Amino acid sequence: MVGGAPGPRRASVARREPCRIVSTVVLTSTLTCPHCACSTTESMPTDHCLWMHECPHCHAMLRPRHGDCCAFCSYGSVPCPLVQQAGDESRSCSG
Ligand SMILES: [Zn+2]
Repeated sequence: MVGGAPGPRRASVARREPCRIVSTVVLTSTLTCPHCACSTTESMPTDHCLWMHECPHCHAMLRPRHGDCCAFCSYGSVPCPLVQQAGDESRSCSG
């Protein structure tokens, strides 16, 4: 596990540098079923959205909520690759 690296305690010049994030698109997402709370890790296609996902436990169809483009965006731990890329672009910093 990376994430939350134990950095120095001094909160001095520790600025975040969003520019250094080289659009890393996560291709796996953990979908959590809203009905039975069963979570499954699925790989996401990059060329299209997986609109629906069937829960392997209760066989409920997870459909995207209003405003979301696919099941990953609504129920996944990570939004779909298309949204991730779009987010990167909109977050582009003018540095
Ligand atoms: Zn379920």
